[in-house]
Amino acid sequence: MKAIRTFTVRPVLADSLAPLDRLASNWRWSWSRATYALFASMDPARWEEIGENPARMLGALGQDKLDQLARDGEFVGRVRAEDERLTAYLEGDRWFQNLEGDKPAHIAYFSPEFGVDGSLPQYSGGLGILAGDHLKSASDLGVPLTGVGLFYRAGYFRQSIGEDGWQRESYPLLDPYGLGLTLLRDEDAAPVEITLDLPGDRQLHSRVWVADIGRVPLLLLDSETPSNSEDMRRVTDRLYGGGGEHRLLQELLLGVGGVRAVRAWSALNGKPTPDVYHTNEGHAGFQGLERMSELITQDGLDFDQALAQVRASTVFTTHTPVPAGIDRFPRDLIADFLASSLFTGLDAGRAIALGLETYDGGDQGVFNMAVLGLHLGQHANGVSVLHGEVSRGMFGQLWPGVDTEEVPITSITNGVHAPTWVHPALKGVSERAWGNAHTDTHDWTDRGIVSDGELWGVRQHMKQQLVAEARRRVAASIQATGSGVVPSWVERILDPEVLTIGFARRVPTYKRLTLMLRDPERLTKLLTDPDRPVQIVIGGKSHPADDSGKILIQQLVRFSRDPQVRGRIVFLPDYEISLAKTLYPGCDVWLNNPLRPLEACGTSGMKAALNGALNLSILDGWWDEWYDGQNGWAIPTADTASNDEERDDAEASALYDLIEHQLVPRFYERENGLPLAWLGMVRHTMTELGKKATSDRMVRDYVTRLYVPAAAHDAALRANRFKEAKALAVFVSRVRDAWPRVHVDNVDSSGIPQQAQAGDTLEVRAGVRLDGLSPDDVAVELAYGRTNEDDALAGDRSVYRLSPVGKEVDGVTTFTGVLPLTVTGTFGYTVRVVPTHPQLVSPVELGLVTYAS
Ligand SMILES: *Cc1c(COP(=O)(O)O)cnc(C)c1O
Repeated sequence: MKAIRTFTVRPVLADSLAPLDRLASNWRWSWSRATYALFASMDPARWEEIGENPARMLGALGQDKLDQLARDGEFVGRVRAEDERLTAYLEGDRWFQNLEGDKPAHIAYFSPEFGVDGSLPQYSGGLGILAGDHLKSASDLGVPLTGVGLFYRAGYFRQSIGEDGWQRESYPLLDPYGLGLTLLRDEDAAPVEITLDLPGDRQLHSRVWVADIGRVPLLLLDSETPSNSEDMRRVTDRLYGGGGEHRLLQELLLGVGGVRAVRAWSALNGKPTPDVYHTNEGHAGFQGLERMSELITQDGLDFDQALAQVRASTVFTTHTPVPAGIDRFPRDLIADFLASSLFTGLDAGRAIALGLETYDGGDQGVFNMAVLGLHLGQHANGVSVLHGEVSRGMFGQLWPGVDTEEVPITSITNGVHAPTWVHPALKGVSERAWGNAHTDTHDWTDRGIVSDGELWGVRQHMKQQLVAEARRRVAASIQATGSGVVPSWVERILDPEVLTIGFARRVPTYKRLTLMLRDPERLTKLLTDPDRPVQIVIGGKSHPADDSGKILIQQLVRFSRDPQVRGRIVFLPDYEISLAKTLYPGCDVWLNNPLRPLEACGTSGMKAALNGALNLSILDGWWDEWYDGQNGWAIPTADTASNDEERDDAEASALYDLIEHQLVPRFYERENGLPLAWLGMVRHTMTELGKKATSDRMVRDYVTRLYVPAAAHDAALRANRFKEAKALAVFVSRVRDAWPRVHVDNVDSSGIPQQAQAGDTLEVRAGVRLDGLSPDDVAVELAYGRTNEDDALAGDRSVYRLSPVGKEVDGVTTFTGVLPLTVTGTFGYTVRVVPTHPQLVSPVELGLVTYAS
């Protein structure tokens, strides 16, 4: 008999153990070594069995066991100590509190997925893990941020691999209470319910779960509530499960419902409503339309004023240059919702235009969530320097006439939460050596602090754990899917003494899971070398609807079952956070071979690096930025190849060469049993990447570069009953109307000397037709610098603003300035006109630029 619903009944805790409840319901336990150890020690075997979660642990331990622990003085002492530490963590001042100047009051951070811990499977891959790490670092830094997402009853799927090598999916249901989440309740203790009015007299209701991530609340909207009809209850059934309307309803709930939920939470907790809204990818784009609708109906703004206000306070992060990673809905489907009472007051036609692909190659029949995100977010970024560049090229057409380098999308490189991802054993070494487990201040290159023996010892220890875990997982997988009898070779798979390469990630085509199989003979030789073998550990889930990804997994699994290589190349099913935490530290080398430049950033290599693994990767995403010749190896990109096959051949062959001629000799070269040169690279990696690759660095960047300016813009526009928002809207419409007729009438260059010398100056006069705009509405700029063969201003150019002189004569206003000839060589300049207003972030963000011709 199968239960239709399950829930957890918790035993009563004695007073001395009461703090366990609070410790269990704050997810800080997942990155605090001591709190984690406290719960695990209650019953280590049980802890593993129930999937390492404190709330579940409290539900699983019987009253007897708890009573016994309540009488254990040592245990009770640890409970008290952990409780005090949690209080100190929650209350003390942190980085943000000590930041000078005006600061955001409250940032709402929207994401369709959050990867906080293995026991809360609300993520599919990098995007979600990044969101989880963002919350944790925001908490550690004291940033007043609230996460907003959905609670998926079955989360993302769990993967098993059949005897045929084919991926199977299962969707175990989650019990939010049993995991340590609490329901958001109003003053009368009734669950807060968020309701969306949908077309056709339908309503979508949801409740809100709160997960405390240290100091940061994470609000998760859940459509599983008695008020909903059966089909509406299924809206939050799975992450990325359905398509079409199901997906759209999820995104409406996330965006529209999310704004309402964060407002409800703020009011109930006496916190300011958010002044910054950050959307992680485009999925939550409707948050902006919901806020516009509010501003129109509640504050009496018109469409353009509301748009200005919303743009000012919105940060949009784009995460992928792969079109399949961007949500696009049929335009007609969206039209119904936008015209309904869900978005009261909003002009549906104009709202739709915000998401249309109005550029060459765009599809007029779709509504694109990335386009919406960019139109609604005045502050936008990609997630590595290279990805910023790629995004400016990819979305540049939304700013016609603007040079690609100037497209207003900046970049902030991703990072990872070190306290979550650094292995406890390595944290132990840090604590012994420096008294704390921080990564960003430790100099691992100092052999006097951590000896080669100690470093190699801990690396080997972490590898042994991976080997043991791999054997356990492979055995369990055979037991579950095969005949049930575990063959004896499983006890011998992997060898802690062998050079170990890890490769695990989602399996979209561009990540090229099977590149390593390109030349099976060559790979086999590397794996089976009698003296200096290599072993590879692999993991990865394919999206359930993506059969091409499942075929790749099957190819790999089949290859790995060949008795010749079996045990030297191992596929571990169900790659997720718990496996990842054992996998990264256990590998000597972390491999990544995407098709450049499709990997926006990539973060698994950073997690590996913080644990002392060396990276072996295509120069894409973060590695393009931070590869320095001593922290690993760069696989050369064959992007001049004439087709994909040729490119794969060339890159695979370079990969084998690197392994054979660089990695293997370096790894196996020993002095007194230790690979000293290898360890030198490990030390360098941990020291240098330990400073950069953390999400603390990333969140600080977001705060100072995007959140602080966004909050300032929001406040400036909102002040005095939206005075500036109204003024900005008037300004934008005035310059848009006039712009087609604005042009540079003449540029007087008669002052160019015959023989220009460095140090000379040159007076420039430009006559500009403003067609009714005032000289204050525009900046007439002189751009100058070195030119290339095409007479383009290449590389570093300077921009200098000219000043208006005299009155307008025959419709022409003159602007002048002095051009210093600072660089030698071929030199050029041009004059351009752009609108100027204090509330613009970039001079070209309106897409209005006029060049002299
Ligand atoms: C870090 C991580 C990812 C993302 O890794 P990429 O390098 O960005 O592909 C995916 N899944 C899990 C479980 C992770 O921990």
